[in-house]
Formats: sequence, C-alpha cells, structure tokens
Amino acid sequence: MSANPDGKPTKVSELDGEAPESTDFANYFCTYAYIYHQKDMLEDHKRTGAYYQAVLSNKRQFQGKVVLDVGTGSGILAIFAAKAGAKKVYAVEATNMAQHARNLVEHNKVGHIVEVIQGTIESISLPEKVDIIISEWMGYFLLRESMLDSVLVARDRFLAPGGALYPSHAAIYMAPIRSNLANQRTGEFQGSMEGWAEFLQEMQHYYQVSLDCLSDAYRSEQKDYYHHTSQWTDTHPQQLLGPAAPFIKYDLHKLTLEELKAPLKAEFVLHMTDGGPVDALCGFFDVWFKGSEDNPTDNEIRLTTGPDPTGATHWGQQTFPLHPPIDCAPNDKLRVSIEVTRRADNQRLLAVKAAISVEGNSIYAEQSKTPRNFRWNIE
Ligand code: SAH
Repeated sequence: MSANPDGKPTKVSELDGEAPESTDFANYFCTYAYIYHQKDMLEDHKRTGAYYQAVLSNKRQFQGKVVLDVGTGSGILAIFAAKAGAKKVYAVEATNMAQHARNLVEHNKVGHIVEVIQGTIESISLPEKVDIIISEWMGYFLLRESMLDSVLVARDRFLAPGGALYPSHAAIYMAPIRSNLANQRTGEFQGSMEGWAEFLQEMQHYYQVSLDCLSDAYRSEQKDYYHHTSQWTDTHPQQLLGPAAPFIKYDLHKLTLEELKAPLKAEFVLHMTDGGPVDALCGFFDVWFKGSEDNPTDNEIRLTTGPDPTGATHWGQQTFPLHPPIDCAPNDKLRVSIEVTRRADNQRLLAVKAAISVEGNSIYAEQSKTPRNFRWNIE
C-alpha cells in the first residue's frame, strides 16, 4: 500500500486500506490527525453526551452485535459501542489518529472487541456485514465536509439488511433572527475599502507604481467575503424573530448518494412572531438516534445544534447576513426558496442561494412581493 501523506508507511491491521487522495488530505483530513482537534470535538459535551446516551441507554440494541464506526478519530464511539456490549467493533479512520485510537482502545481494555483499521472507508474491506453503523459525520449546516457521502458508501457496502444507522435521521433548519452581523460586515467592508485607498497611495508614494486597475477586483473580492459568507455564531434564543423551520429532513437509511450529491432545493415559510428588520437567517441542524425498523432504540436521543441559552455546540449555528435587512411586521411571513450546492472548487464546501419575499397584510409585504436574491458561501 502507498504511504499516507501524514507519514504512515506500513499496515498494522490486515484490514488496513488506502490513505486519502493528497488534495483531499490537504483540504480536509489533515486537521483530524491532531489530538488538539479531536479534543475540540470530545469536549463538546452536548455532542459526545448525545452519542454516549444513544449507545449506552440502548445497550440491548448493541448486545452481541457487530458494529462499524465510520471515522473513529480518537476511537471514542467504538469504545462506547464495546462498553454497550457489542461483540465486535470495526473502527475505521483515514488519518494517523488511527494509531492513537489503537492505543486508547487497548488502554481502555476493549482491545479484544475493537479493531482499529487505518484507511478510507471507501478503500477498506471487512470480512463480514455489520448490524450497526455509528458515525459522527456532521459538518457546519449539517452538510459541510460532505462526510455523509462516506457513511452512505459504508451503509451500502457493509450494513446487513435491517441494520441500523446511528444517527438515523437528520434535519436542517432556518430561523429569522435579529443580529448585528450584516451591520458589522458593512462597516468592516467600508473599513477594508478605506484601507485599500491608503494602500494605493502608499504604493504610489514609495514605489511609483499604480495599483488602481485592481480596485474593482479587490472590491468584489472583499464584498464576497463580507456580504456573501456565512459565519459561525452562538445565537441566543432571544435573537429569534420567529420559530425555526425545518426545510429538509433525511431518513439516512433511505437517502441515496445520488440524492445527496444533487443540489438541495427547498421552499419554506418563516412565520414572524416579532417584526423586522430581519438582519440574518440562522441555520442549524438536528440529528436523531432512532435505530432501524428492525432494531429500533428503546430510548430515542436527539442532538440539536439550535440556539441555546446555555451556549452552542462546537458546530454553533451558521448565520447568513441579509444585506440590506428585510423589513417586516409581526405576523408577516418570509417565503424562502433555498438552494444548497457543493462548491465546484472544493466539493466539501457549500454555496447557498436564497430568494426571499414577504407575505402578509403589512405595508412591507406590499413592498417586498418580488423576491430578493441572496447568496453566501459556507467556508
Ligand atoms: N468519531 C470521532 C471523530 C469524528 S470526526 C468522534 O466522534 O469523536 C470524523 C472523523 O472521520 C475524522 O477523524 C476523519 O479523519 C474521519 N474520516 C472522515 N472521512 C473518512 C473516510 N472517508 N474514511 C475514514 N475516515 C474518515
């Protein structure tokens, strides 16, 4: 086998597979090889606690079962599954974190149950089908990182008929919020263009070179950044101007890879309980652990990443600034057509487009009948 980009020369397990392709490694995988990054996820107790509950409050479902952990990282979920009574756990990890996982599994005395396999899930083979696939694959706005692709590949290759996915269901939400983000971004954009004007003068003064001809390109580059990029936020529920609406729900047992890769298009309505201006839309996701039809959980667990007065998970929310904000009155509705696509330059990143109009009896509804178009990148 070829050496890993992060320097793994030889096979440890007979089942070890291939390293990720080098660009994907550089863009995506490399950070996961650091304990520092795994720690960030582990100490998100809403996240790790939800998985812990999903597995250890459903021991009956794991008893004597064969489990696959897709992207085991530190090995944590594989260890949970072993503690819940699994007969065998295949713990697959693409990066060199696999070596730490091996260490951790032995140290926690589940080495006789958990077999850590280094390689991408796409490149490995297993000697048997599995009863349960567990994975923590979620990215910002659920879909960023596109790791769900790998879980569906694993499901189609390795899950026995009737087997269960943990988590089993997911949904993405949007909510109208008041936020200073659009305002703040406008100020930062203006500041950046003032800085550019000074920079041009300096270049002329010190080096007698004019950079004027780059001004339009710089403006559009900066505008893209300040007005067309979403931001990680820890949104307080008091910022909500109306309830969040789920605009897509996935049953992960049924979702196909083809459906997942296609642009996600949806139309939904946000009911305004408070009046605007609406400065931003707040996007987040939930996942549910319900097991499968044949092996349902006794205790259904839900992991939510929505606005929470006790603070956000490490995913936070993705806040999409509305520039300029949308005016509306209480009881108006925002009709939103959304399209989420993968970025052409990097399939693990997302682009979001939305067309938004106001409906209702207020003057704003009259003024904003024609949808306004917005676009953002999720970096
Ligand atoms: N399961 C751990 C880590 C989750 S982060 C936990 O819950 O704490 C996701 C992990 O999946 C990362 O370590 C990443 O390197 C790994 N991963 C992502 N895609 C993968 C793939 N296609 N094959 C194998 N590992 C993958």
